[in-house]
Amino acid sequence: MPEGDTVWNTARVLEKALAGDVLTGSDFRVPQLATTDVAGWTVAESASRGKHLLLRLTRGSETPLTLHSHLRMDGAWRAYAPGDRWTARPAHLIRVVLRSARSVAVGYHLHEVALLPTAEEDTLVGHLGPDLLGDDWDPAEAVRRIAAQPDASIAEALLDQRNLAGVGNLYKAETMFLRGLWPWTPVAQVNDLRSAVELAQKLVASNRGRWTQTTTGSLRRGETSYVYGRRAQPCRRCGTAIRKADQDERVTYWCPRCQPRP
Ligand SMILES: [Zn+2]
Repeated sequence: MPEGDTVWNTARVLEKALAGDVLTGSDFRVPQLATTDVAGWTVAESASRGKHLLLRLTRGSETPLTLHSHLRMDGAWRAYAPGDRWTARPAHLIRVVLRSARSVAVGYHLHEVALLPTAEEDTLVGHLGPDLLGDDWDPAEAVRRIAAQPDASIAEALLDQRNLAGVGNLYKAETMFLRGLWPWTPVAQVNDLRSAVELAQKLVASNRGRWTQTTTGSLRRGETSYVYGRRAQPCRRCGTAIRKADQDERVTYWCPRCQPRP
């Protein structure tokens, strides 16, 4: 599940593959950029902001550009050596190809692909709350934004990227389990928002630099979460069957005993 950590890792993959390189070719397989070519541009930097990817390009004194992409549920970028076969995903899912002398970056099933002046990045990411993995992570500001909507459920509030940027469904469910919060608890009834926000940040940050996401500390298959993806399995703390339900167009998982309705 692409959440803040996955997107952060992906930004590092692109940084390692392309940063400092002059692009020798590009292929945009999205209608809005079908005629775009960024050959001749240098990849200055690869960054992430919440779940958004920002690849910054420069060329001499021209206005710097940013290639924006979003992974949503299913997108991915992969880096290959020139001449390698692109085996990660089926070819029909390719949306962007960027080539340099030493690397080929292939973007699969990317969303919101856009090329815009770097100075205008805020039109795409300016609405985001504090970035869990940003240098400017600000838990107090995240709490302030969440508290401003006291009737929202805590689950909704953690997923809302305008409150804090980088939590997806996995970390949402796991944070609520670890704080003993029933997912539908209104924000106004959560005693310690700050500790919930700080825990979410800690969980996402702890998975930087690896592709297996764990909240339990175990990297073994089947042991990486407390409640997420564990419907009907026994709670690791109390043995009660974990439940799963729809919530605001997403699913949520919880232990009815460890996370009682207030
Ligand atoms: Zn339990």
